[in-house]
Amino acid sequence: MDNPARYMLTAALPYANGHLHVGHLTGAYLPADIFARYLRLQGHDVLFVCGSDEHGAAVTMRALAEGSTPLEIVNKYDSSFKSSFKKVNISFDIFHRTSAELHHETSQEFFRKLNSNGDFIEIESEQYFDAEAGQFLADRYIVGTCPKCQYENAYGDQCENCGSSLSPRELINPTSKLSGAKPELRMTRHWYLPLDKHESWLKDFISNGNLNGQPHHDVKKWKNHVIGQCKSWLENGLAPRAMTRDLDWGVDVPSEIAGSEGKKLYVWLDAPIGYISASKQWAMDQGNPDAWKKYWQDDESALVHFIGKDNIVFHCLIFPAILKAHGGYNLPVNVPANQFLNLEGQKISTSRNWAVWVNEFVEELPEYIDVLRYYLIKNMPEQRDSEFTWKGFQEANDNELVNNLANFINRVVVLTNKYFDGKVPQPDPNEGIIGSDYADEFSFLDAELLRLYDMTYAVHESIMKYDFRAALQGVMEISSMGNQFLQNNAPWKLIKSNEQGTANVLNHGLQIIYVLGHLLSPFLPEKARELLSKINVSLDERSDAILDMMNKMAEGEELLKANHKIEEAFHLFSRIPDDVIQQQVDKLHKQGSLSSDKEEINNLKSTIDFATFQQLDLRTGTILEAEKMKKADKLLKLTVDLGFEKRTVVSGIASHYKPEDVIGQHITLVANLAPRKLRGVESQGMILMTENEQGKLVFIRPDQTVSNGSEVS
Ligand SMILES: [Zn+2]
Repeated sequence: MDNPARYMLTAALPYANGHLHVGHLTGAYLPADIFARYLRLQGHDVLFVCGSDEHGAAVTMRALAEGSTPLEIVNKYDSSFKSSFKKVNISFDIFHRTSAELHHETSQEFFRKLNSNGDFIEIESEQYFDAEAGQFLADRYIVGTCPKCQYENAYGDQCENCGSSLSPRELINPTSKLSGAKPELRMTRHWYLPLDKHESWLKDFISNGNLNGQPHHDVKKWKNHVIGQCKSWLENGLAPRAMTRDLDWGVDVPSEIAGSEGKKLYVWLDAPIGYISASKQWAMDQGNPDAWKKYWQDDESALVHFIGKDNIVFHCLIFPAILKAHGGYNLPVNVPANQFLNLEGQKISTSRNWAVWVNEFVEELPEYIDVLRYYLIKNMPEQRDSEFTWKGFQEANDNELVNNLANFINRVVVLTNKYFDGKVPQPDPNEGIIGSDYADEFSFLDAELLRLYDMTYAVHESIMKYDFRAALQGVMEISSMGNQFLQNNAPWKLIKSNEQGTANVLNHGLQIIYVLGHLLSPFLPEKARELLSKINVSLDERSDAILDMMNKMAEGEELLKANHKIEEAFHLFSRIPDDVIQQQVDKLHKQGSLSSDKEEINNLKSTIDFATFQQLDLRTGTILEAEKMKKADKLLKLTVDLGFEKRTVVSGIASHYKPEDVIGQHITLVANLAPRKLRGVESQGMILMTENEQGKLVFIRPDQTVSNGSEVS
């Protein structure tokens, strides 16, 4: 394997002012967990850390709103996170918290180092001060009238009515949320990180994957949207960014530094350092306080940050600048940020309570935790926003986990118990050969094992590219292949004429189950454990079991030996009753208020497999003739040249195009759509169109001239 032996993996620190929802899970924690679990099973040395992000004005705001204290708030959500993560089996090596003393010390050490290096500049500016409360006001502590839409409850950083981002000085009639007083402007002095000075190396880092002029990481492995967002920041020019705040909740600016009184570290300076303090705490817990260093400071170790798209700039530009300024730390080799998950056609919203909360899911539907993981991975918003629907959740379970995976496993186990006394049958590659499509140099079993190895390797490659949807699909394809293999060889018939052939078929079926049990482990850890226990295989999740399995397969060695005893038949998954789903849908609509403003969501249709896509026959063509249809304002009757034949196509484009406008146009046609009659004319295909921003239909066609009838694939 050409990958580093050691990995430092971090997952975004959840902010301790609300519970976790499914969008958080699929955004950062599931991808990180799959990667961590898989790397461990490949024999890599992995440290996987996370923790609660407990500072910042939003925590104090929440305390104010709940009539509580910041400490009570962070304790409440920290324990909620811990319990939720444990129940959905996120395999952190440690879940730490930024209120810990060790974290305060670590962050202050960073501040001291950067300050003494001369990496900060100090800037004095006017900021709002609440004279009654005797403190400067964070942006969120100031409300007033939005200058853009006149909404009266806009915050100092954003108007939630029109979405504009604001600065406190722009608000009309600002008032303090603390005392209700009108705040006054006072001078205050803060430390800034002059990001403009880091721009040039950051450009080389993001665009070319270089650090100090040397190759550092492979930019081709980074997601386009991550690089795109960073480049757009870099192109706009980076500005000095305040690293301290006037707050009473957070990490103190070290007291020996002049002017530190009343100043706290900016939450975005202290939060990512939380990954380092978590690693230090982990090392202390191991009884080896220096053990964290090899993960952060040894250049043989690869640092990867798993986050949502809202944290890209902090992890790709600001935190690397802090690490580099400090010196002695690795910079990330990748930041595979995900986009957002929507819910039942709406954006997930904490304030509107439009969410599926993880702490409630694990209480109400504990038997479906791995189904939730499955559905969230299958719909992971890796490249674009995706959507959670309860119907989709049920369908993924019933159609894929029950009908495909559980069905395959059950059939093999039932037949093995029935014909071979519940023992792995002795294979004989030279006897009982079945099928005729195996090349001469391979026996039936060799050829099948090779196919299984190739499919396993494809899963491996997808995981190493952070393409977890494709990886999970690859695992499910192994199960589909298993079902097809059973169907083709029909052991229930074969047993009557060829016992050794049947033994070969079921032996291989059991090898497939062994592989599935291992490959499912990073994705569905509980179900994988359950599956393997039914074939009496124990999997140590902290061992190199997958590496070992793949090595054996590559050598052509059997995974499950003949005569190995398996258990009775079982159902790994079962159907989810309609009423369970309906209850959740009802609950969501009862608890949540629908968004009043129309939010744009790209409603993607559900995933289809490649074979389904291949059933489409798309061809290029040219429109030869066009005429208006009688008594149909919207329809044109077209004659399309496909090179090898001409087709009549009725198309609903008459309100966008005159017949003379479309003659000679190159188009793309769905050529194998069942013909249908429209106003008495049989239409033999459908022309692909899209809508431009003005709502006009436009043709989809090749950007260069190609022959009519060319296949589109
Ligand atoms: Zn507004």
